[in-house]
Amino acid sequence: MYNENPTIDRLEKTIDEQRQGEALMLDETTTDGKKFYIESYGCAMNFSDSEIVSSILATEGYSSTRNIQESDLILINTCSIREKAEHNVRQRLRVFDKVKKGKPGTLVGVMGCMAERLKTKLLEQEKLVDIVIGPDAYRDLPKLIATAEHGDKGVNVILSREETYADISPLRLGSNGVSAFISIMRGCDNMCSFCVVPFTRGRERSRDAYSIVAEAAELVDRGFKEVTLLGQNVDSYKWSSPDETEHVNFAQLLERVALVSPELRVRFSTSHPKDITDEVIYTMKKYENICNYIHLPVQSGNSRILEKMNRTYDRAWYKERVESIYRILPDCSISSDIITGFCSETEEEHQDTLSMIEWAGYILSYMFAYSERPGTLAAKKYEDDIPLEVKKRRLSEVIKVQARMSKESNKRDLHKTFKVLIEGDSKKSDLQFKGRNSQNKVIVFTKQEGYKKGDYCFVKINGLTSATLLGEIVDGHE
Ligand code: SAM
Ligand code: SF4
Repeated sequence: MYNENPTIDRLEKTIDEQRQGEALMLDETTTDGKKFYIESYGCAMNFSDSEIVSSILATEGYSSTRNIQESDLILINTCSIREKAEHNVRQRLRVFDKVKKGKPGTLVGVMGCMAERLKTKLLEQEKLVDIVIGPDAYRDLPKLIATAEHGDKGVNVILSREETYADISPLRLGSNGVSAFISIMRGCDNMCSFCVVPFTRGRERSRDAYSIVAEAAELVDRGFKEVTLLGQNVDSYKWSSPDETEHVNFAQLLERVALVSPELRVRFSTSHPKDITDEVIYTMKKYENICNYIHLPVQSGNSRILEKMNRTYDRAWYKERVESIYRILPDCSISSDIITGFCSETEEEHQDTLSMIEWAGYILSYMFAYSERPGTLAAKKYEDDIPLEVKKRRLSEVIKVQARMSKESNKRDLHKTFKVLIEGDSKKSDLQFKGRNSQNKVIVFTKQEGYKKGDYCFVKINGLTSATLLGEIVDGHE
C-alpha cells in the first residue's frame, strides 16, 4: 500500500507500487472546458482523497487528463510518512515548474500531508506552487483556484475536527470497475511516536454510517464487486446519530456494509492491534462476503521498542490477538507493517521482530527502515542513533524472512481451490485473468469462455511464482 518499499516488487497490493505517482484519470471525460492532471503518492487514503477532489473539480466543470502538457491545473497529492516520499514529490514539482514555464497560466497545487507540513517552504522559499491545500480543506479548492488565477497564492491547510466529506460521491479514478475504496474515517488520535500522520491529517473522526452504506450500495448498482473500507485505525470507528439514539462501532458497520449485497466483497484497512475486537472477527466469520484477510501492523516484535513507539500493546498482547484471529477464523491471512532500526533498537530486539514474522506467518509485510520525521514524539524525545547501514541490513534480514514466509504460505495453497473475483487481464498476457481470493492473494489463471471481469469463479492452484499463485478455473467448489 505504500511507496518505496523494496520488498513488494511484483506483489499485488491494495495500492499497486506501480500506481505511485500515476496520473489518475476518470473513466469518462469531456473534451471541453478546463482540464486537471492529478498524481497521487502514499497510502490508499491519499488515492481515495484524489477521488474526492476530482468530484469537487468535476462540479466546477473540470475534466481530467493524463497529458500534463494540456492541463490547466496540475495537482500532486503528497505523502510525508518517510523522508524519501517527500523527496520524490520535490523532484516532481521541479518537472511541473518546467511544464508551467512552457505554458504560462498553468496552476500547480500541492495537496495532502506535505501541504500542512511544508506550506511556507513550498510557497516562499521554493516558489514552485500556486495552491497549497491540506487534507481537510478540499471543499475550498474552487476558491483557492480563483485566488491563484488572480495571481495570489491560494492556501488552506486548516485541519478540521468534523470534515469527513460524507456527502461527496467520489469519482473513481483509474478504476478497474470492480474494486473501490470507501473512506470511513479521517485522521488519527494514536500518536505512535514515529508517525507524522496525527500532525498532517489531524484528529480522528468517523463518517456517517448511512453515507458509507449508501456509497457501497451505489457502487453495487454500478457493477462494482469489492469495497475496501479505509481508515488509519478502522477498529476505532465510532459514529453516533445527531440525536444520540444510534451508535455504530466498526463491527456493526462491517455488518451493515456486508448486508448491502452478498455479491459485494468487503475488505478493510488498517486494523490496530490494540483495538481489534473479537466482535469484529466474529462478524467476519458470520458473513461469507467479508474477506478473510486482516492487515495488522506489528511494527516491532519487541515489547521495549513497542513501548518506545507508543503503540500501547506489547509482544504478548499482539500474539494473543493473532491467536484469536486464527482460532476464530482458521482460514484468515494476516499481513503487517514493520519498521527496522527504530531509536536504540538492539540486535536482540531486532531478532524479536524476525521471530514474530515467522510466528505470525504473515502472507506479506510492508517493511521500512526508520526515517525520523520532524515534529514527531520520537524526533523530540529519542536520538535517531541506529546507523543507516544497520537499519538497512536489518531491513534486508526482515525482507528475507518475510519472503520465506510468503513462499511457504503460497506452497500451502498448492492444490487448494479458491473462490476468486476476476479483476481483469493479467499483466503479462490477455489470455489470462488476474484475480484475488478472500485471503487477498493474487491468482493468475487461464481465461475460459463464459467468464469476464467482475465475475466470481473457482480456481484450483497448480503452481506459483515468487509472488503469485497460478491456477485453472474449475466448475464449482470441490
Ligand atoms: N495507521 C496504520 C497503523 O497504525 O499501522 C499505518 C499508517 S502509516 C501511513 C503506514 C506505515 O508506515 C506504518 O505502519 C509504519 O510501518 C510506516 N511508518 C510510519 N512512520 C514511519 C517512519 N517515521 N519511518 C518508517 N516507517 C514509518
Ligand atoms: Fe500513525 Fe500510529 Fe496513527 Fe497509524 S495508528 S496513523 S502509525 S499514529
